[in-house]
Amino acid sequence: LMNMYQPLNILGWAYREIKQGAIDMERVFDTLSLRPEVADAPDAQPLRLTGGAVRLRDVTFTHDGRSRSVNGVELDVPAGGFVGICGPSGAGKSTVLRLLFRFYDPDSGRVEIDGQDIAHVTQESLREALGLVPQDVVLFNDTLRSNIVYGRPDASEDEIWQVLERAHLANFVRGLPDGLETRVGERGLKLSGGEKQRVGVARAILKNPAILVLDEATSALDSQTEKEVQAALAEAARGRTTIAVAHRLSTIAGADRIFVLDDGRVAESGTHDELLARDGLYAAMWRRQSEAGESSVVPFPVNAGD
Ligand code: ADP
Ligand code: MG
Repeated sequence: LMNMYQPLNILGWAYREIKQGAIDMERVFDTLSLRPEVADAPDAQPLRLTGGAVRLRDVTFTHDGRSRSVNGVELDVPAGGFVGICGPSGAGKSTVLRLLFRFYDPDSGRVEIDGQDIAHVTQESLREALGLVPQDVVLFNDTLRSNIVYGRPDASEDEIWQVLERAHLANFVRGLPDGLETRVGERGLKLSGGEKQRVGVARAILKNPAILVLDEATSALDSQTEKEVQAALAEAARGRTTIAVAHRLSTIAGADRIFVLDDGRVAESGTHDELLARDGLYAAMWRRQSEAGESSVVPFPVNAGD
């Protein structure tokens, strides 16, 4: 009898959560082990991580059945490497990242991690391998603590506070009457965009994933905080595969390789110097940002001193 009721309980729970609004859909799908459009293949195996190399092979994806958001994209991130992705708004950057998380399956082509097509690995193992700091961090209606340890529920108090320091959140949390037990989200304390983003950074650092994915992770921060959080991210990126989508090009100028997306395609790729010499889209964006004074942020120093 218990077993009969369980699915109903879960649905009831999901329904209540959704009705509450402001919930993190990803969390609901995590908890229910399902995705709206994507299921584990019947023969799915756990991902065998050997270093976290990422490869997109001729990937095409259409959201609406008409225009291609991602069109024949080839992208290569060596294990432990740092790759930047940039390009105009709507170019397909976030869609590429969602394909890597298998939020969608490509219409054609494949996404591989360490040589394995992610369509054939269990989603649980895939999610374990990846950590994301999204463009818009969504907080669920829960304590700050739950929002941060999500992904690493077994983290010790020491680890949590180390991460809070690194994400420049420690002073903020100390200043709250209920500290980490403060309820946040729609029905709790409202955090600013920058604070939310730092919660996202703390979450990702604590999770300690093999592959770190940043989607304009510092865009909501003022430039001083951005510099500081950028330094924390650079440290977190060291020794692990990192893919960073950036609006501010100076944050990816130090990447091993930069992919410039335009209208769903890789328009050009190379190192910062190669792309400047090429004098194409990247060089034009770089000049524009330099003139606007946006390129003064410390470059992502991932390989500094290596
Ligand atoms: P970027 O992150 O580079 O700004 P996106 O990957 O978000 O670009 O979007 C690429 C293209 O796909 C855009 O034309 C956008 O309008 C479209 N798109 C993105 N998400 C959706 C969606 N959920 N439904 C329909 N179209 C979408
Ligand atoms: Mg985007």
